[in-house]
Amino acid sequence: MDRIIPIQPAAAEPSAQAIAPSADGLGCATGKDAMHQAAVAAGKGEVLAQYAADYPLQPKAGPHDQPQSMCPAFGSLRVGLRMRRTATILSGSACCVYGLTFTSHFYGARRSVGYVPFNSETLVTGKLFEDIREAVHAQADPAQVDAVVVINLCVPSASGVPLQLLPKEINGVRIIGIDVPGFGVPTHAEAKDVLAAAMLRYARTEAAAGPVAAPRQGRGALPAVTLLGEMFPADPPGIAQMLAPMGLAVGTVVPTREWRELYAALDGAVVAAIHPFYTASVREFEAAGRPVVGSAPVGVEGTHDWLGAIGAAAGVASDKIDAARNATLSAMRGVLAAQKIQGRITLSGYEGSELLVGRLLVECGADLRYVGSACPATPWNAADADWLRSKGVHVQMRASLEQDLAAVSEWKPNLAIGTTPVVQAAKQACIPSLYFTNLISARPLMGVAGAGSLVQVINGAIANQARFDRMHEFFGNVGDGDRAGVWTEEPREFPAFRADTRRMNEKAAKRRKAEEMGG
Ligand code: SF4
Repeated sequence: MDRIIPIQPAAAEPSAQAIAPSADGLGCATGKDAMHQAAVAAGKGEVLAQYAADYPLQPKAGPHDQPQSMCPAFGSLRVGLRMRRTATILSGSACCVYGLTFTSHFYGARRSVGYVPFNSETLVTGKLFEDIREAVHAQADPAQVDAVVVINLCVPSASGVPLQLLPKEINGVRIIGIDVPGFGVPTHAEAKDVLAAAMLRYARTEAAAGPVAAPRQGRGALPAVTLLGEMFPADPPGIAQMLAPMGLAVGTVVPTREWRELYAALDGAVVAAIHPFYTASVREFEAAGRPVVGSAPVGVEGTHDWLGAIGAAAGVASDKIDAARNATLSAMRGVLAAQKIQGRITLSGYEGSELLVGRLLVECGADLRYVGSACPATPWNAADADWLRSKGVHVQMRASLEQDLAAVSEWKPNLAIGTTPVVQAAKQACIPSLYFTNLISARPLMGVAGAGSLVQVINGAIANQARFDRMHEFFGNVGDGDRAGVWTEEPREFPAFRADTRRMNEKAAKRRKAEEMGG
């Protein structure tokens, strides 16, 4: 409902205040374009233009130009909550904050999420900004925290709440204010980049100005490879083993777990963009003079190419690169030859690692037909997309739910790996399925361990087909469609009502089409 308290704009800040009332009450379910316009008018044009350049959307070809996924701000929130000695404060509508805190605790945040509430009055009078400033001062205790992160959600972003005017530092505590509106940042993956890059920028400025804290375990003797992207905990040690023959070490994983690790990340000899959507973070590394390498050590061909690219970027001699390849690839070939995936698969997700998993599936013998990712095409996943396409796999970047579902229905796979709604639809169609986030992302992917870990879980899931068939036979169409729910007697059908509804829907569809063609 678009109801507001009728506050008269004060003369001092006409543009933001004129816009704010119309923004209040809107959210991700409605008014994306209106909020975007409001934010531009309220002074957020520059930051939104940067987001549009960093996180490009697909040209609008269907009902969505943005993949359906959870509230993007969750990505930034999660990055802040996972860092030691970091306080994270949300500024946004109570319903958004409720959802975000719920999700954080569901994922084991074990940390309070700060919240500065607002109402129409505090939003339009500028009092909200004063409240945020007060909250930041209250949190900035150097004995407790290294940094305070403030995240503007949709409505404060649309209203131009100027987090850039917060002090950069209070008592030695860094203050980072970012706008993460759903109408500017397409996915929660890219929202991780927004905060990671803001922190890298801050740390880079500090490092340029003078000496900074060394990593907790001290600075290593070997040149290090910084890993960009959250990954399964067993992967960095596995990558370290692969790098050792080249005289390289695994460095920091970004997003980092504490502030001082940011300096170590910037200090890496090479940056491996394992997850390909960290566009703004890459800009910071490049500003620090660090070469950035895409793709990842997955499967034999992926690992061969990645080790070569990392070695070349770090100036490693070719005989050492060959030694590293020999040490890893023969073991990997053995693992891949010993067990094979038998079956056709479709794969979709929003983590950013979908193409890497796809490569591994193909090398494990899977008949992979489709990979959909909510993330955009970038220079760091281009080689993976090309490789998959060369194997006949349809790769869809910025995939919408409709495209993911169409792939399942088109290819009728033996296994659908996907997001919650894809898995649900596949199960309904009697197709075994696995959640990408919980069951595929949560296992090693890189090197020999990665090659060994996937086959078992995939073959196990495919082998469930007989159980699905039995269940389908037993339940038939009980609970399907409008028969869902609890009935005390046999559901009665109303064919006339159905025909009416169908006619209304057809008319509405024709009207929409006519409007689209007219517009
Ligand atoms: S902050 Fe997130 S949940 Fe709230 S309106 Fe924006 S996109 Fe939706």
